[in-house]
Amino acid sequence: MKTIAKVLLALCVIASLAFTTFQENSEKPIVVVINVSHGGEDSGTSNGTLLEKEIVQQIAIKMALLNKDPNIQLHFTRTSDSYISLQERVQFINNLKPDRVLSLHVNDNDNSEISGMDVFYADKGKEPISSENLAQKVVNAMESKGIFSTSKVKQANFFVLKNSEAPSVAVELGFLSNAEDSKILMDNTQQEEIAKVLLTAISN
Ligand SMILES: [Zn+2]
Repeated sequence: MKTIAKVLLALCVIASLAFTTFQENSEKPIVVVINVSHGGEDSGTSNGTLLEKEIVQQIAIKMALLNKDPNIQLHFTRTSDSYISLQERVQFINNLKPDRVLSLHVNDNDNSEISGMDVFYADKGKEPISSENLAQKVVNAMESKGIFSTSKVKQANFFVLKNSEAPSVAVELGFLSNAEDSKILMDNTQQEEIAKVLLTAISN
């Protein structure tokens, strides 16, 4: 009987250790880099006084404030209006080894009729989750809210997408050259909605 008791005790200890390990794994936060594009002397695209570098920073700040999920750990490539080169951004990302990377941009086009959101990824072969998959998640989350006229997944070999080791997407949040998109992008409430959608997409 004594031996049986010992075996049972040992099994209990093993079971509880296994459970602890499992719990620790499940609580490991998802580390996400929000690449806040442009900054400093580089304003990105613009429409009058509306500057891409300011819009993406405003949305990034909203993401930081609205993120209540302890499982999502956000890091930002810039938190002030400063110039950071693409190389420095990639270095920051690859040193941190995040689970995913989300670059924030705003688009423009000579044709002011063109509107909507595009999510770009670069095909980098083997990845823990594919960049394409992440791009699709952003599009799905945005479509369910219907903020922009269209949301599309596209492929492009942008420097940060290509050189970041983690699954990465670049989100072009509408066109500053389009009146409707500009209205969305300068609206505080709509910016909050966009930030929430992006948080939903990266937490899935
Ligand atoms: Zn840009």
